[in-house]
Amino acid sequence: MRATFKRWFTLGLTGLTLAAAGTVSAQSNFPDKPIVLVVPFAAGGPTDVVARMIAIPMGRALGQSVLVENTVGAGGTIASQRVARSTPNGHTIYIHHMGMATAPALYKKLSFDPLKDFEYIGQVVDVPMTMLARKDFPANNLQELLAYVKANKDKVSLANAGLGAVSHLCGLLFQTQIEVDLNTIPYKGTGPAMNDLLGGQVDLLCDQTTQTVPMIKEGRVKVYGVTSLKRLAALPNVPTLDEQGMKGFEVKVWHGMYAPKGTPQPVIEKINGALRAAMQDPQVKQRLAELSSDVPPLDKITPEGLRTHLEAEIKKWDPVIRKAGIYAD
Ligand code: ASP
Repeated sequence: MRATFKRWFTLGLTGLTLAAAGTVSAQSNFPDKPIVLVVPFAAGGPTDVVARMIAIPMGRALGQSVLVENTVGAGGTIASQRVARSTPNGHTIYIHHMGMATAPALYKKLSFDPLKDFEYIGQVVDVPMTMLARKDFPANNLQELLAYVKANKDKVSLANAGLGAVSHLCGLLFQTQIEVDLNTIPYKGTGPAMNDLLGGQVDLLCDQTTQTVPMIKEGRVKVYGVTSLKRLAALPNVPTLDEQGMKGFEVKVWHGMYAPKGTPQPVIEKINGALRAAMQDPQVKQRLAELSSDVPPLDKITPEGLRTHLEAEIKKWDPVIRKAGIYAD
């Protein structure tokens, strides 16, 4: 009995040693195949734009392609669940915005925990938003918009990317400030929502500058204001919502990069190095500046920087959302 136990024990140890050696070599070879970067919203939208912008320099730094995959639905929570359940080997990574912090309060049944099921790679980018309408919408400025919306609230539609999307949060803030409930129309991302805005199928959309600056500059949509407290360099003629009387209307969308819990630390460090390289890439920096989006300081592009921020944001949003009583069953 003892001998058998000893034999099993020794075999077990050998197995463990071999497994450990395998992990070490897998880590030092990492990445030995392309990496999938999951985006929780549809292609063409703001999160997708940022992901595709950084995927190329990250791939260059890692010596492997970084392939963007869109897993859409339920305000980003379907993608979060997919990543939480993926093999933790560094070949699946994830970019999501502040919806990661609002999901626990918004969704009664959440099958993942943002604070337990992920490894943190670093913060990515901070992006302001803009309040838009289809080009032929009758209101020409914010005051006209407020008057029109109050008089026609049953007719006006407001697009968003689902419960917990930032377009949803911005729309909620807007409706709360003007005390009007609009018909909200959920999409699988603001990429398709923007297509419908351009096509005139929906009236209003609040969305990030990473998608909206070119549309505004080309005059393809009407813009009523930006959600920063200062005007944006990329849109100097567009007033802030705050300066037009919507006092304190501020939404800045932070983004983070994650991996499934249990992804080995040396692998996280490699991916973090690639993310930092991408965020310092001159082309990425220039493009983000053109879209009035800020690269966080380097100490925030760290696992610790993201985790601390996520924790603080969960604490901040939880009481606000619970008080507002908005949630999905
Ligand atoms: N802008 C979207 C949102 O409202 C997401 C996206 O499509 O990137 O969260």
